[in-house]
Amino acid sequence: MLLKVKNIETSYGFVNAIRGVSLDLEEGDIKTVLGANGAGKTTILKTVMGLLEDQPEKGTIEFMGKRIDRMDTEDIVRLGISYVPEGREIFPELTVFENLKMGSYTRRDKDGVRKDYKRVSEYFSVLEERKNQLAGTLSGGEQQMLAIGRALMARPKLLLLDEPSLGLSPALVKDIFEIIKAINREGITILLVEQNARMALNIGNYGYVLENGRIVLSDETRVLLENDDVKEFYLGIKLEESVKGYQRYKRKKRWR
Ligand code: ATP
Repeated sequence: MLLKVKNIETSYGFVNAIRGVSLDLEEGDIKTVLGANGAGKTTILKTVMGLLEDQPEKGTIEFMGKRIDRMDTEDIVRLGISYVPEGREIFPELTVFENLKMGSYTRRDKDGVRKDYKRVSEYFSVLEERKNQLAGTLSGGEQQMLAIGRALMARPKLLLLDEPSLGLSPALVKDIFEIIKAINREGITILLVEQNARMALNIGNYGYVLENGRIVLSDETRVLLENDDVKEFYLGIKLEESVKGYQRYKRKKRWR
């Protein structure tokens, strides 16, 4: 098992954001966590990364058999987990190249870093073209690519992605998901948090549905895609039907 999160509880003061969440990732997985705004998705990722002081309050997190809960974020990165936060959080005043270099700050193997820089430039040719441009002047899609590229520069075994599709055009969302698939094929395991449930369920092999800090449903994605609740609440399928039904009803009323 690559990552084993067992029964974690995380709070912000009196707000219990995560109330007993367990999830497992095997090498090669793309697993996804779905949930509405405020369900606790980001909090799970931040807890795994050790970004929240004194959290998790309860439960354990193991990475490659080693306890990492309460470990410093820097050590967690060194062990092989990278995090792409929601909203990208790149350094706008630094160039694209400098941002990518920041991603490798925990590494001492210069040759390896050079190789990974080449690899990232191949994934995202636009970053290579714009390597001397200030990151703050990139488009939203390019910034998302930069954020993923920077995370790859740490040469992770596990990549945590928070809402990579947020604010992107449908065409770019497709591109980003294609890149995520390609990264995974190269052997990087992925934990993906998304509100774009359809995309996430299509690329992932397993999914968890999070509501109010608890996992209420989890299964292989092909099963979740057929689940009525998932269809209604996350894929909007029945919702569309009921909107149509309402329009039909209104039209009939007008005729009367
Ligand atoms: P979104 O998709 O909107 O980012 P999410 O599922 O990622 O939502 P979280 O950001 O993990 O949800 O938030 C879970 C809960 O914790 C919410 O009720 C949120 O208001 C609360 N919360 C998040 N960050 C903080 C904070 N720094 N201080 C206090 N409460 C917080």
